[in-house]
Amino acid sequence: MTPAALRHLINLGLSLGAGSLLGWLSGQLAWALVLSMLPWLLWYLYQTLQLDLWLRQTRRHPPRTMGLWRAVFDRLFRMQKQTEKEINILRTGLDEFRTATNTFPEPVMLVDANHVLLWYNDAAVAQLGLRTSSDRGQVVQNLIRQPDFTDWLHDSNDAAQVEVVSPIQEDTIFQVSRSPMESGRVLLIFRDITELHAVETMRRDFVANVSHELRTPLTVLMGYLETLDYDANPELAMILDRMRGQTHLMQSLIDDLIEISRLQTQHIEGREEQVEMHALLYQLKEQAESLSDGRHLITFHIDSDVGLFGASKDLESAFTNLITNAVRYTPDGGTIELRWQVTERGGELCVCDSGIGIPSKDIPRLTERFYRVAKDRSRSSGGSGLGLSIVKHVLNAHDAELEITSQVGDGSTFICLFPKNRLIDDTQTAALPASTH
Ligand code: ADP
Repeated sequence: MTPAALRHLINLGLSLGAGSLLGWLSGQLAWALVLSMLPWLLWYLYQTLQLDLWLRQTRRHPPRTMGLWRAVFDRLFRMQKQTEKEINILRTGLDEFRTATNTFPEPVMLVDANHVLLWYNDAAVAQLGLRTSSDRGQVVQNLIRQPDFTDWLHDSNDAAQVEVVSPIQEDTIFQVSRSPMESGRVLLIFRDITELHAVETMRRDFVANVSHELRTPLTVLMGYLETLDYDANPELAMILDRMRGQTHLMQSLIDDLIEISRLQTQHIEGREEQVEMHALLYQLKEQAESLSDGRHLITFHIDSDVGLFGASKDLESAFTNLITNAVRYTPDGGTIELRWQVTERGGELCVCDSGIGIPSKDIPRLTERFYRVAKDRSRSSGGSGLGLSIVKHVLNAHDAELEITSQVGDGSTFICLFPKNRLIDDTQTAALPASTH
């Protein structure tokens, strides 16, 4: 208890004591008590009115008073000053933040959990066409009307980014990332990647053009090589064999490069086709058997009738790459298993082999273009180093992931994991036989 409060209580106690004594002496205890407390009551009433008046005019100093009331007024005054100081610090910080973000050359926006626009900088006005103040309070997807952007806003993965085209400059492309805050608000940060896009397009076009240009002379070369007769030139047999092998390698490299640039340039909508996995896998099994030519034991399981929404040609190309690898990198007599199943994680296409396996340090880099675990083992098997890169592209376009597990000497498992929203439920697909070997 503070000294002022203690003094106040003592004075109150003394008044009560004096009142009681007077009451006892006069025989009018009740009246004496009322009279002794009346000044206190009036005093409290007066101070309460003073407090009310002062609180309504918060800028003025507290009223002059004494005792406990003075201590109360002083404490309230100090608290008020402290709050004002903190508000000023916050206001200055906010102003500095606003000034700093307004000097950002690229658009920044602050939206709430419902994507309502709370604040944006000058660059958002200049580059995205937002109106200086009237767009505040609008839902951001009404201002940037692009389906990918809307999907991305509803995506719970905060690390995901999306590309949007400026609503006022069609040739300007932004990459948008977000930074969620504890309050549920989200900062949207736009980065102009127009130049990067142009360079990427140029690179892609260049690779595609060169690959197409190389295709014709190579076809001519291969045609001539086919016509050369081994028997007529026995001394050239080995050379011709090597030349044929190398031209085939070049052809598969060119085919893969063309396939990659096709996948990069087209935008797979994916939802337009319903892929019947049963038929597709059956086709893949036939391919695997013809490639293996009886050297491996190939098994095939369809544990689910569920199909996929996707681009069947691209999916076939991806799965073929996985199967070709399984055949290539599994020594004769090994096993290869193909499985389609639906688990709680989604749709899983697994290609499992008992082949040579992959060292764990190489696994994270396998889907990079031209990455080979060991150049000689890939080259000797006719690999271009682009197969898994194609797989990754196709899976990305289908919102799917590639999981790779492997043990050197024991074999490898490649799982293409498709999200549940890509699966066609039973009501949408015709009944298929349950399991086939
Ligand atoms: P490539 O056309 O050279 O096979 P990929 O991109 O398909 O290129 O594969 C990259 C590398 O991953 C290959 O060089 C190979 O060493 C390794 N690899 C891929 N699949 C398998 C597999 N099933 N078993 C062992 N190694 C594999």
